[in-house]
Amino acid sequence: MGYWIFPFSKNTITSPYGDKTPPRTSPHRGLDFATGGNDVIKAVTDGKITDIYWSNCLGWVSEQTSASGKYRISYCHLNCHQHGANCQGPSAHKDRSNCMKNLKIGDKVEVGKTAVGRIGDSGDCSRGDHLHLVIGKKHRSAVSGWTTDPEKYIQRNIDKHGLPGDEPEEPQEVTEPIVTVEDCEPEPITPEPTQGIPAKILEAVRTILLWLKK
Ligand SMILES: [Zn+2]
Ligand SMILES: [Zn+2]
Repeated sequence: MGYWIFPFSKNTITSPYGDKTPPRTSPHRGLDFATGGNDVIKAVTDGKITDIYWSNCLGWVSEQTSASGKYRISYCHLNCHQHGANCQGPSAHKDRSNCMKNLKIGDKVEVGKTAVGRIGDSGDCSRGDHLHLVIGKKHRSAVSGWTTDPEKYIQRNIDKHGLPGDEPEEPQEVTEPIVTVEDCEPEPITPEPTQGIPAKILEAVRTILLWLKK
């Protein structure tokens, strides 16, 4: 489903999208959350993991699609499960492992349930533990390309669809099976083989009927 959530309460936002406050030299491409710890980050919407990579600026990044596949959501400056908040990246992962222990490319993620990382301070562009959340459209859009304001985008979705917790506890009663178009295709009609009644029997029946009428 197309539910979205904020990864952390909005009062932990420390820098909005588009922020130009020095020492920034260009508008902020993401939305920052700082909870004061290395909290586990849960997926903001349903989707699939498309990448877990290192960027010198953004540190460890995990990236997922949105349910529709239209968007890419990136979680940046992640904490490394082996080296903590200040992991040095691939040079510290000669075995080609990454910051995550139990998450890999292709994994399905569920809104509010799947851990997609832990708040960290990895990468040269981070100044203290925080999550830099990016919503873009293309692979590695956290690094370059089109992005949108995650605060506005997520809020619009919550206003429109509600939160995952708003779903009714009991699944709605389904009275009829959902019929797909294919199921409606008429069965090809194969004509029944004609079982002609032997003329002799017909004749006999006719005779009996006539006899009964008498
Ligand atoms: Zn590491
Ligand atoms: Zn940021």
